[in-house]
Amino acid sequence: QQGDLHGEVVVLGSGPGGYTAAFRAADLGKKVILIERDPQLGGVCLNVGCIPSKALLHVAKVITEAEEMGAHGVSFAKPEIDLDGLRKFKEGVVGQLTGGLGGLAKGRKVQIVTGTGKFTGPNMIEVTGDDGTKTVSFDQCIIAAGSEPVTLPFIPHDDPRVIDSTGALELKDIPERMLILGGGIIGLEMACVYDALGSKITVVELMDQIIPGADKDIVKPLHTRIGKRYENILLKTKVTAMEASDAGLKVTFEDTSGNVSNDTFDKVLVAVGRKPNGKLIAADAAGVAVDDRGFIHVNSQQRTNVSHIYAIGDVVGQPMLAHKAVHEGKVAAEAANGDPRHFDARVIPSVAYTDPEVAWAGMTETQAKAQGIKYEKGVFPWAASGKALSNGRSEGMTKLLFDPEDDRLIGALIVGTNAGDLIAEAALAIEMGADAVDLGHTIHPHPTLSETVNFAAEMFEGTITDLM
Ligand code: FAD
Repeated sequence: QQGDLHGEVVVLGSGPGGYTAAFRAADLGKKVILIERDPQLGGVCLNVGCIPSKALLHVAKVITEAEEMGAHGVSFAKPEIDLDGLRKFKEGVVGQLTGGLGGLAKGRKVQIVTGTGKFTGPNMIEVTGDDGTKTVSFDQCIIAAGSEPVTLPFIPHDDPRVIDSTGALELKDIPERMLILGGGIIGLEMACVYDALGSKITVVELMDQIIPGADKDIVKPLHTRIGKRYENILLKTKVTAMEASDAGLKVTFEDTSGNVSNDTFDKVLVAVGRKPNGKLIAADAAGVAVDDRGFIHVNSQQRTNVSHIYAIGDVVGQPMLAHKAVHEGKVAAEAANGDPRHFDARVIPSVAYTDPEVAWAGMTETQAKAQGIKYEKGVFPWAASGKALSNGRSEGMTKLLFDPEDDRLIGALIVGTNAGDLIAEAALAIEMGADAVDLGHTIHPHPTLSETVNFAAEMFEGTITDLM
């Protein structure tokens, strides 16, 4: 059955997974149609995720660095925040990237269809947009529909003072007192931005640490720093009620010992996770199985239970990260082209772009202990790094985990400024099967933070025993 339009490969959703898959399929010679409900390409990552948050985090870092320069003998005046100007800067960055995608699509003759797509059969999607409804048939399809923020039933989400990450990135105002509900990566990154802009921040987290995916010792330097800057960090505590009034949002907290307390905030950012969009695309009409939570299960070629339909990115599962979506997008496009490509990444690095940054790749100590996996570690405290000291930021730590059988690197966790950049070396080392000697004997430039990876390997080998 032929639709109004026909693509050899049709991609549903234009986030990092979707546009990568579409471009790769086009480069392989396929006639590609990319369906996107939003007027801009780029999905969550480019429009309301990775990129705008990093633009604001950069500004936040400059503000806090300037504030702290007093300790280095240089003082700046209090910054004046021009919210319109800041918003413009962020929108400029986003616009440049999303606009660039349009050009890249055009250059590859990828046809963009704007509207909301829903399956109506195993080879057909119906797309409804401002200009009406059209049908798009396909030989093969790649679902890249992404995810959206989780909402909590007892929270007045229709109150403009209750926001999600998208609302936080809009920068409508700088609230005096702000509650960040959820101490994960997205919540803490936004906390970092609003703290620098002048809000008094409280973070509430259900677990016994912030960023629950990382090891406690790695998260500690971040906790210590923000503990000094923020009003409050409440761990092992949940929000049980929220009441909106003219005075603000009255929030009820309950800790694990059953203690109940209340506090009132001008704004609440709900950052308790994201849910996949699998249930919003009528996947059943194509016979594609979607689980109760909205995830679509795939094999190592990103194929769903329907062999000519693939799925990638946030909609297929954790970790919900752009670089994972991109990698899966390439695998799906190449598999759709008949290439023997599989997703076989050993590690997918995670980064919190907080200040300091927290990054990890591969096995964490917590996971190794829980799974009974034997490991030994090399830990290098940044207080002994010349570069970290010169930066005035020596609170970091680089921790490498090795397999005691063959000394190969199995995990790396780094906290400190630029940890997100530093983790790439560890990711490559794990992919390449590098061992402690490889990392310890590779000459790293001095003085850099990258030396801390080198030194942590040497600490493990025992070739450095004394620190300054
Ligand atoms: P998405 O980016 O979610 O894109 C899906 C697209 O599909 C959307 O454009 C949507 O409009 C479209 N769509 C959905 N359904 C339909 C339909 N029925 N019809 C038509 N179009 C449809 N990840 C990182 O790796 N690094 C970061 O620093 C980072 N920071 C983040 C910060 C924030 C505030 C947030 C919210 C997320 C962040 N992420 C980060 C996560 C990252 O944004 C996602 O993992 C990534 O965008 C997932 O890509 P995707 O292609 O799966 O889907």
